[in-house]
Amino acid sequence: MKKNRSPWIHQLDSSRTHTTLRNDISTDIAIIGAGIAGISTAFYALKNTEKNVVVVERFKLAHGATGHNAGQVVSYFERGFGSLAKEFGLKRAAQAEKAIVDAWSLLDEMYTEASLDIPFSRFLGHGGLSSFQQVKWHLEANHLRREAGIESRDLLISADAPFVKAIPKQYDGIYSVVPQEKIAELLETKMPGFLAVISFQKGCINSALFCQEMVIYLQKKYPDRFTLFEHTPVHKVILHKEHAVLDADTHTIEAAHVVLCTNGFESIHIINEAGLQIDAKYHHLVRGKIGYMSGYLENMDKPPMAISYYKDPDASENNSYIYLTRRPYEYEAGAHHNLISVGGPELDLEEDSSVYNFEDDFPEEAEAEIDRFIHQVYSIEPKKQIDYVFTWHGLMGYTKNGVRLIGPEPQNPVLLYNLGCNGIGILPSILGGKIISGHIAGEKMEKSIFDVPRK
Ligand SMILES: Cc1cc2nc3c(=O)[nH]c(=O)nc-3n(C[C@H](O)[C@H](O)[C@H](O)COP(=O)(O)OP(=O)(O)OC[C@H]3O[C@@H](n4cnc5c(N)ncnc54)[C@H](O)[C@@H]3O)c2cc1C
Repeated sequence: MKKNRSPWIHQLDSSRTHTTLRNDISTDIAIIGAGIAGISTAFYALKNTEKNVVVVERFKLAHGATGHNAGQVVSYFERGFGSLAKEFGLKRAAQAEKAIVDAWSLLDEMYTEASLDIPFSRFLGHGGLSSFQQVKWHLEANHLRREAGIESRDLLISADAPFVKAIPKQYDGIYSVVPQEKIAELLETKMPGFLAVISFQKGCINSALFCQEMVIYLQKKYPDRFTLFEHTPVHKVILHKEHAVLDADTHTIEAAHVVLCTNGFESIHIINEAGLQIDAKYHHLVRGKIGYMSGYLENMDKPPMAISYYKDPDASENNSYIYLTRRPYEYEAGAHHNLISVGGPELDLEEDSSVYNFEDDFPEEAEAEIDRFIHQVYSIEPKKQIDYVFTWHGLMGYTKNGVRLIGPEPQNPVLLYNLGCNGIGILPSILGGKIISGHIAGEKMEKSIFDVPRK
């Protein structure tokens, strides 16, 4: 059995010193969770306010989903734009998609201000579609985007697709017909069955390394206003009218605001002394899902790439796809390769995320499924045995409607949320950090689909 071994954690500085909370403290903003959501929230809270910020992490910086993801930077939701528009109205759905797309510039802002020099590639990424139904979702989504005045996505349909003549007139101008070879070329596959490609900007970054380097920057830039405590689990949050008290294992933290950046709602008991109880509601809002991934090294002779394959014609719009990323990767210092990483197999945890243990071995079935996929789809000798240097899994928190929760708790705004990874969380976490800083700074914030529901 293989261990949970992630390429992102492999690149972190294992000699970094960790500070644990050793006495009772008070602060303006306590952020629980040191993944990309917690660190981005800290970045924007420090930048946009004069307040003191403490980040409390039960384990180690960026060792949650942030250290166990696919590291693709993508600006979409794990549910179709059409269904978002149906639930929230076209205007709100379009504002939300635009906000996520604009989060690219927030990522740039963080990267540039901290003068980071970690690998961060950008390119046109692709999604391979294998049925008319899948194509129709994207036609309709582009149609709605056009109506809402936001950018649509490139949709290329194979001239050989049996439905090409049946595409309704209303979609003219929002797709192009190309030779089948173009589809195969973009998807880098010889596997038959792909009939269309949806393309838009994607990128790749090691989001754990990003957090590590960002913390070093924040510690230097704000030595008196920023502290990170690791190995400090928060068990309980008691909310009062104008402050909160956190039971952080052996000590307490008093804070004017507390921001949950915990991915899901894990093992924290919330007591609201200043209004209606929120504990039960809150624990039912997010359910856990484990995502499995494998990675191997190749020569560094091809450019970075990210492709999602909806190879099953019945695959749903939400998440029945396999995703492959290729990127330059430094395995040992100075040894440069391409890392090919592939994910897709998942396991729903239904009610209880606490059953997930990140030290669990990597299941053989997940590795076999990924291996079959690579041999079937990606360009590799059919019989070549792949040496998977990395196999890893991570926990994702899914909200009921697949939309991240960002903003104050309606029952007591001392508590705020930036959580619910929903499979795609790098850009949404950063956007969440910016929004939370606006709420805390007292700015007038527009209503959005990310707002925390009252019930
Ligand atoms: C297999 C997989 C593939 C993915 N691929 C992508 C991708 O390609 N692109 C993308 O955008 N997103 C992807 N994601 C999702 C993305 O990684 C997450 O949305 C993002 O990392 C979430 O960041 P976070 O900070 O919210 O959560 P996390 O990184 O999980 O951080 C939460 C932190 O809170 C801490 N914590 C929890 N409870 C407590 C407590 N009681 N006290 C103190 N600390 C606590 C945890 O220890 C953890 O460190 C993927 C996720 C997985 C698992």
